[in-house]
Amino acid sequence: VSYHPLECPVCEAAGDCRLQDYAHEYGVAVSPWGWHPLEFATRDDHPNVARDPNRCILCGRCVRICREVMGIGCWGFRSRGYDTIIDTAYNMPLEAVDCVSCGQCVSTCPVGALNMKRSRFAARNWQTDKTKTVCDFCAVGCEQEVQTFRGKLVRVKAPIGEGVNQGNLCVKGRFGMEYVNSDERLIAPLVRGEDGLLTPATWDDALARAAEGLKKAKAAKAVGVIASARCTNEENYLLQKLARTVLGTNNIDSGARYNQAAAVATVGKVLPYPAMTNSVADLTDADVLLIAGSNTTEEHPVLALQLIKAARQGKTLIVIDPRRTDIAKRATLHLAVKPGTDTLLLAAMLRHIIDSGLQDKDYIAANAEGYEELVESLQAVSLEAAAEACGLAAADIKTAAELYGKAAAASILYSAGLTQQVNGAAAVTALVDLAVITGNLGRPGTGVNGLAGQANAQGACDMGCLPDYLPGYRALTDADGVKAVEAAMGRLGDKNPGKTIGEMLQGVLDGQIKALYVVGENPAVSEPGAAAVKEALEQAEFLVVQDLFLSETARYADVVLPACAITERDGTLTNTERRVQRVREALPPLDGCKPDWEIVLALANQLEADWAYASPADIMVEIAKAVPQYAGISYERLDQGDIQWPCVSAGDEGTPVLYADGFGERKALLQPVEVAPVDPADSAADGYAFTLTTGIEREHFGTGSRSRRAPGLSGLVAEGRLEINATDAASLGIASGDRVQVTSPWGNIEPVAVIAPTVPQGLVFMPQHYAEAAAAALFPAVSDPVTKVPALKAVPVNVQKKA
Ligand code: SF4
Ligand code: SF4
Ligand code: SF4
Repeated sequence: VSYHPLECPVCEAAGDCRLQDYAHEYGVAVSPWGWHPLEFATRDDHPNVARDPNRCILCGRCVRICREVMGIGCWGFRSRGYDTIIDTAYNMPLEAVDCVSCGQCVSTCPVGALNMKRSRFAARNWQTDKTKTVCDFCAVGCEQEVQTFRGKLVRVKAPIGEGVNQGNLCVKGRFGMEYVNSDERLIAPLVRGEDGLLTPATWDDALARAAEGLKKAKAAKAVGVIASARCTNEENYLLQKLARTVLGTNNIDSGARYNQAAAVATVGKVLPYPAMTNSVADLTDADVLLIAGSNTTEEHPVLALQLIKAARQGKTLIVIDPRRTDIAKRATLHLAVKPGTDTLLLAAMLRHIIDSGLQDKDYIAANAEGYEELVESLQAVSLEAAAEACGLAAADIKTAAELYGKAAAASILYSAGLTQQVNGAAAVTALVDLAVITGNLGRPGTGVNGLAGQANAQGACDMGCLPDYLPGYRALTDADGVKAVEAAMGRLGDKNPGKTIGEMLQGVLDGQIKALYVVGENPAVSEPGAAAVKEALEQAEFLVVQDLFLSETARYADVVLPACAITERDGTLTNTERRVQRVREALPPLDGCKPDWEIVLALANQLEADWAYASPADIMVEIAKAVPQYAGISYERLDQGDIQWPCVSAGDEGTPVLYADGFGERKALLQPVEVAPVDPADSAADGYAFTLTTGIEREHFGTGSRSRRAPGLSGLVAEGRLEINATDAASLGIASGDRVQVTSPWGNIEPVAVIAPTVPQGLVFMPQHYAEAAAAALFPAVSDPVTKVPALKAVPVNVQKKA
């Protein structure tokens, strides 16, 4: 304390400061050495992090968390004695070094030397109300402590040692939740009047109008419901129940269609459950991690910390990705596969494992069927031909196969990089086959771990927001399953499979769908085939949109229903590792808004459903009856801690690792590998110089409707950027910051270019979050025919600098 400024009254950390605590505990009222004030300059040049080196006690925690947990190393000690300071290299601004703005250093700083800039002077730590809840961006499902003051969210922290994140958060979880305070929130229902304009209405009028429109379409058997992969389990359960038992249709899908829904037709075909087999915590038990189509550090940043830890421990990381992503840079082996050739690569790996005798014959004999058919399907696969087609060295494919095949415990991770391909089903199925034939299932550090996208993508599928599966993944063709679901939730109005999001929109154009009810999704930006999507939204006879903001989709609506943010409602979310966890109301519903579950309930009752749920806990009681994997789950139990499904009874503690005892009464059903030809989008490649691929970036999420309204995120990245290789950019006379025109056979957009070493020559990359530069608008309305996941990973484009 001899040189620590005594400015507690104005320090952000006062009341939450270890130095203050210790001074109090040890009765240090006056420094025996006098006071030697420091005169370091404060730094305020980062959008979210403010620093005052004068308050620093040189504990080194920020240095260590950035280096050891984040695997980056932005901070270091500079100088000696009283001049010692924590600084970046060459005193550069944080944004100019490799900082990913996670705020982890701020969270661990025990004093007020590093502060959350946006919440400075908003409220003292002790003044805030604190609520434990869950982040609603990605499906890692990080536990948060949301601090609120006078009806506003002030800051977000993570409880140390709790939940999947164990005290860590990424930039979105820490700085992105401020969207709930946005002035752009809808605060009254809107109804389109005879003048064609959306005007504020009462809830009674809006609900009556919504019910009337849906009822009319129900009579014509022409209604569809799009549920939300970011709504809670309870809300999604009610939405599919509304569709099936009130509106009489299986036209129910959700944003999980963009990735997670693929698991049903792939993982779920080989193994009993269409879900991640293992847990985030046991990823570090693997000796080898095979990461395919997952830009993990950007898409699932907190889960990626496990991979960074594994790499630091000397574990082997094999990354399959056309781009040299951050995780690819950390890998032992990066297979920079040509876009769309992943299945061929995986088939070649399977073939080499089998030819080299690395398969686990005993495990296969005891646990699997279909091995001969799998071997047969690989006969036409040659390592050399595959290497050439994939743009890889045959030796690298062999090395990858041998590293995986020889590992004592090998884990597979995959995500939208695979599923959003036109032949993604074949690639994912090949990955599951790899795990089964090498016996890499049922133990910590093994498994096939498909990383779900949105916060509740897994839960939306569990709840049955799928056009061909009921709650608990009961097929519509399974008579006993249908009977069990009907016993829990009432009679189904239709037993035929319904339509996916893309099929519903096409159905509008074909005249089969008259009305759509869209909750918390934004297909106007997320769906490929932009012109047809726009036409469908315009042509729909009746469109109800329920959301927080007037999204691009809501602008087409006849009725807009304002929903509550995740911080304003109770419920549960199920993360990517099947962890069911409680979301809690931290703020009262914003005036004029209602929680989604209450809106669905009110709408159902307007449609004469006679539902009587008093709370989300009530809905969970019914979910436990309808979804066998949730049979032992209740709010009472969840309040004691999260539970990973399957949890089949009140005494069942849940299942962190699936298949520890095999596959129950069945075996793993190995599937032949169908090496599909190249993406059909390539058929239009003549005359196009580049392949465009798309994905998620660290600072934003989905269609940006929430993240772009969080100043802590939009202050970091404000608009869509096209990543282009330096050589390609130079040949086109493009510099970073130039506006460019990107044209495909299906559309054009005008993002800003940024020169990036991550993309090889000939490949360009765009994130998916920007409505005014919607990458999906460049793609045709093509999906994987098996999973019906839109193909958003490879399209031919030209790029030119805008005059
Ligand atoms: S914000 Fe994150 S990446 Fe940036 S310096 Fe702090 S810990 Fe490192
Ligand atoms: S964590 Fe805070 S007090 Fe400790 S060295 Fe870093 S800036 Fe200084
Ligand atoms: S990793 Fe995902 S769940 Fe965790 S804080 Fe970041 S966005 Fe939220």
